[in-house]
Amino acid sequence: MAKTVEAIILPPGNGHWVGDGFPVRSLFSYQGDTRVISPFLLLDYAGPHVFAPNAGAPRGVGQHPHRGFETVTIVYDGEVSHRDSSGGGGTIGTGDVQWMTAAGGIIHEEFHSAGFSKAGGPFRMVQLWVNLPAKDKMGPPKYQAITDAQIPVATFAGGRARVIAGTFGGIHGPATTFTPINVWDLRLEAGAEVKLDLPEGHTSMIVVLSGRVLVDGRDVREAEIVRFSTAGAGATVRADSDAMLLVLTGEPIDEPVVGYGPFVMTSEDEIRQAITDFNSGRFGQMAS
Ligand code: MN
Repeated sequence: MAKTVEAIILPPGNGHWVGDGFPVRSLFSYQGDTRVISPFLLLDYAGPHVFAPNAGAPRGVGQHPHRGFETVTIVYDGEVSHRDSSGGGGTIGTGDVQWMTAAGGIIHEEFHSAGFSKAGGPFRMVQLWVNLPAKDKMGPPKYQAITDAQIPVATFAGGRARVIAGTFGGIHGPATTFTPINVWDLRLEAGAEVKLDLPEGHTSMIVVLSGRVLVDGRDVREAEIVRFSTAGAGATVRADSDAMLLVLTGEPIDEPVVGYGPFVMTSEDEIRQAITDFNSGRFGQMAS
């Protein structure tokens, strides 16, 4: 039995800025029903936006904490530079992915790279938050810098998939994950039809980043998400135009989700603890 479409998630009417560098639309977040998106927590779609050349300091967001989950940043256009309190950091550009495990606590900053800031140009990225099982929430932070060249490409009639995490057509992605997850950057040519191997039991979503696709008779457009049933396996997608899709599947984590800003834990007590720990400097410090 194939998966069925459970919902088409429409984008919010208005976006917002994260710092002064990221014009985002939150396509889903932990403010809603977290059971149906688990193990995912939030997806911010930044851009597409064209930045003018900037003579001043690079735009972005300064030091802030995270605890209890992972942030996955996928760059389509532009360049982002990051530094964190665990010593991780670097610049990621088109095609690169940063998979940061905040776990027990991290402080980081996210800015446009100096080069991109100065030159300006098209900017487009996704930041996905992935929940951690309760037993891993207080583990050590980790940072996976995954370059475009490290991401294998699976090709098929009318399209290709960059396999960031999980498996597509027997090709394995480089990201290490705590729970079973697939993250595919899928590109389809107009008229292409593909059957996606969405696993039985997985929360499964297709995020339309650009173009228009047809799924189970439903028309899905830019910044909309198709959310499928966890029951069943596989779904067929037809591209009505050239399309850029982000496919997310994951085994749900059957634990409470209590989110407060940059902290996502399993209880109010753990959130209070996170705030106390952050305020007393227990998240470490950025190297100056
Ligand atoms: Mn952050």
